[in-house]
Amino acid sequence: MGLNARKKRAAGAARAAGVDALLVTHLPDVRWLCGFTGSSAALVLLCAAGHRARPSRSPIRAVLFTDGRYIAQANAEAVGTEVVIATRPPLTEACEWIAAARVRRCGFDRTQTTVAALATMRKSVPGKLRRSLFVAVDPLVARLRQVKDAEEIASLRAAAALGCRLFDRILTFIQPGMTEMAVAAELEHAARLAGAEGMSFETIIASGQRSALPHGHATLAKLPRRGFVTLDFGVLLDGYCSDMTRTIHIGRASASERNAYDAVLEAQEAGIAAIRADVVTGDVDEAARSVLRRAGLADWFTHSTGHSLGLEIHEEPRLAAKRTEKLKAGMIVTIEPGIYMPGKFGVRIEDTVLVTRSGCEILTPSPKAWIEL
Ligand code: ZN
Ligand code: ZN
Repeated sequence: MGLNARKKRAAGAARAAGVDALLVTHLPDVRWLCGFTGSSAALVLLCAAGHRARPSRSPIRAVLFTDGRYIAQANAEAVGTEVVIATRPPLTEACEWIAAARVRRCGFDRTQTTVAALATMRKSVPGKLRRSLFVAVDPLVARLRQVKDAEEIASLRAAAALGCRLFDRILTFIQPGMTEMAVAAELEHAARLAGAEGMSFETIIASGQRSALPHGHATLAKLPRRGFVTLDFGVLLDGYCSDMTRTIHIGRASASERNAYDAVLEAQEAGIAAIRADVVTGDVDEAARSVLRRAGLADWFTHSTGHSLGLEIHEEPRLAAKRTEKLKAGMIVTIEPGIYMPGKFGVRIEDTVLVTRSGCEILTPSPKAWIEL
């Protein structure tokens, strides 16, 4: 889907929400709509009924406000979008422009607009428009971003494949006695050399007792002679995130460690088996959780089963207990049950999958069988 098709769909969603313009300030939404990747942006989409009367092929009018650092970049990236280089805050100039364009109701994302931003927006328009012009709407663009198009799937597939190559490589590097930090540094160094723009979130390397921390960022702790090491990491490639977790064991494991691993793997595979279009996200969570419940381990599974990802590492819908959204073909989600026993150990296994009509395709096919180094 080209950028113009995305803008058209967003304009259609905005019209359906009862507004004749949409102010977009969440940077991943801006990027998705117009291609601009800079850090300073306010994008206005005009979607009034008057525009609907125009031939359907004509582009939606979109105006991107950014600042002087991005003159060349904005014009190169935001093809098909008017670019205004603001000399005052881009949000202020965008709102002045909206008022001057005689927009009556301009939607803004209620989940991405701070109290301070809304105050700036209102201050930027004539007094008589302050109460009526800006209308809080649901995250319309984020909702459109939930189902990935072919180009996005290709980018996410490439990011996930790079993550898998990095995992294979780091397995040959890991030794007892080296710090978690050294493992993270090696992984991130290799990621950059392979073309990653960065990591999609702070690398988690949690070893020994620290594996019981679901978000144990790499520290100067040394990898033990015996114990688990959880590696949860992702790269950014072409703006898109990868995300995978593997838990390996150094040295010989105890029976309870091995049992825990087997239960988490069984739960993870049950979650994957439950995925296909039209399945309720809460049911996928339950498929994984019920395996751990039967194993008597559910009390240690203290987070949700997964999340969507794309330009952002955590997107909707989440795969969590009691959630009622339905999966759709083209969504990209993670399945990542884990158990965490404070003072002892933790295990998490995570794959990223593409939802299809009949099931899913695993984008992170690195081995999940027990690994003992
Ligand atoms: Zn992860
Ligand atoms: Zn994740």
